[in-house]
Amino acid sequence: MSRRKYVSFLYTVFAMNCLFCKIVEGNLPSAPVYQDELCYAFSDIHPQAPVHVLVVPREHINSLADSNESDQPLLGHLLWAAGEIARSQGLAKGYRVVVNTGQDGGQTVDHLHLHLLGGRAHGWPPG
Ligand code: AMP
Ligand code: ZN
Repeated sequence: MSRRKYVSFLYTVFAMNCLFCKIVEGNLPSAPVYQDELCYAFSDIHPQAPVHVLVVPREHINSLADSNESDQPLLGHLLWAAGEIARSQGLAKGYRVVVNTGQDGGQTVDHLHLHLLGGRAHGWPPG
């Protein structure tokens, strides 16, 4: 098996066991906020702010650390979608977009996602 095919096979295995893939496919319940051909956005089950939305690509990518050059249009789209959702949620005073990545980044679900947090002031530096 070529390296490319092996990586693709590994991703299929990851995706089959992935919580957010199951949500994107409609096999687990979620509260949808926005969706299009590239991404799906839904309310976080443990909200950390009055507005706490997760924006996830439909395609399984483990994390930002696993993204590559060919993912640039998708990554840009996810950021655009977060801004669009923020506008639709009336977050005119501002908001925060967070991409927890890997162990030190506090990532707990290994499917790339953006947190959109709004409706309250956020401190800096983050914890
Ligand atoms: P992270 O820790 O950055 O990987 O973020 C994962 C987020 O997914 C956390 O904020 C969780 O509260 C959220 N989460 C976990 N399971 C679900 C679920 N079934 N529906 C919605 N959000 C979830
Ligand atoms: Zn996934």
